[in-house]
Amino acid sequence: MKPIRLSDSPFKMISKLPIVYVTARNGPYFNTCAALTQMDLSPVQGKRVLLKPNAGRVAPPGSGITTHPQVIAAAIDIFRKAGAEVAIGESPIMGVKTMDAFDAIGIASIARERDCPLIDMDARRYIEAPIPGGIAIDSIKVCLEVLEYDLVISIPVMKMHMHTGVTLSVKNMKGCLWRRSKVDLHMLPPVKGRCEKPIDIAIADMSSILRPHLSIIDGTIGMEGMGPSAGKAKPFDVIVVSADPFAADSISCELMGTHAKDIPHLRIGSERGYGVTDIDSIMVKPDNWHDWISPFEPPPDNLKIEFPNIKILDKNSCSACQSTLLLFLKHYGNRIFDYFPSNSNVCIAIGKGNEDVPDGTLCIGNCTAPHKEKGTFIPGCPPVSSRILTAISGKPSIDSEDGHIEGQDKIRNHFS
Ligand code: SF4
Repeated sequence: MKPIRLSDSPFKMISKLPIVYVTARNGPYFNTCAALTQMDLSPVQGKRVLLKPNAGRVAPPGSGITTHPQVIAAAIDIFRKAGAEVAIGESPIMGVKTMDAFDAIGIASIARERDCPLIDMDARRYIEAPIPGGIAIDSIKVCLEVLEYDLVISIPVMKMHMHTGVTLSVKNMKGCLWRRSKVDLHMLPPVKGRCEKPIDIAIADMSSILRPHLSIIDGTIGMEGMGPSAGKAKPFDVIVVSADPFAADSISCELMGTHAKDIPHLRIGSERGYGVTDIDSIMVKPDNWHDWISPFEPPPDNLKIEFPNIKILDKNSCSACQSTLLLFLKHYGNRIFDYFPSNSNVCIAIGKGNEDVPDGTLCIGNCTAPHKEKGTFIPGCPPVSSRILTAISGKPSIDSEDGHIEGQDKIRNHFS
């Protein structure tokens, strides 16, 4: 296996401390330009630059789920002006086609206007990269483009996350892992002697070799609560830029009203020396960046809080099934009882880690197949919402693209 390492950023430091640039209140395009142009961008001259947004889901622009297209537009314009060749690449979550996501979120149209290549990073093979000293994982399958481009820029959305606390520039690199190998990080057994969830340790492991050269965190419209896809859009109008992704994530956490020390993958990574999260050791420009702090509603500790009569048995599921289920419950959680008249509680299982489930459980996704005799099994990886609807209502669904945000109106019609 060929070793890889994306960790050394060529962007020059003007001090010993990592620098984070925060811009706000001028819209996504100008905020992004204003942050990037404070940096010495000479390292991009003559280089091939890969922009890695959060384009992993089909969602409308402005939903807080995917990177705002005007942030990408600004990044293309600024890096080209600095002499770079620029492309945009993504490997989305299970069940989503890359080009469908680029289209839906508005990145395809800004790329077309600028004649900027869009890359489906799942289309080709991967390279397996070892992670020396990895605790939860010892290798990852990395999309080839990540190694072929000179510089990789992580451009996530500022979001709370149900399972990892936040998802920012360090975690956004998970979208550089090939096809369903991303899922593997959600299926890991507990790590002996460690109290953190294996997914958190695995993200820290991944960041030992797969850190972006530059981070541009899009807080134009963030997501609070049940991120990464079922939370509430939070208009914020902030951009955070740094060559140290841990520093960028740490300052973003502060802006969101949380702290990197409370986010396990950031804490573990910084303890191992992959980046700086101590805000006293980070130079933030401008000095008055605190003025823009606006706490995001945290993710609920437990889905039972959000859905009191629905018991979720979530063991080792991945984002795709979580998204399908969360969006389904968010819109139809109350009406689900119409189809379970004799039950005061409804049990729903996702993920492959459930050793047993109660009789009558709604088993969602192929990972729950071992329990299919116990209740209602909805196959798929992930299943689309129409399959859940069909299974519980006994009526055929009219929708073929649900499970995606844009399908919600159609799903509603099914119930009306
Ligand atoms: S069935 Fe669901 S949880 Fe299992 S791998 Fe597929 S998407 Fe992930």
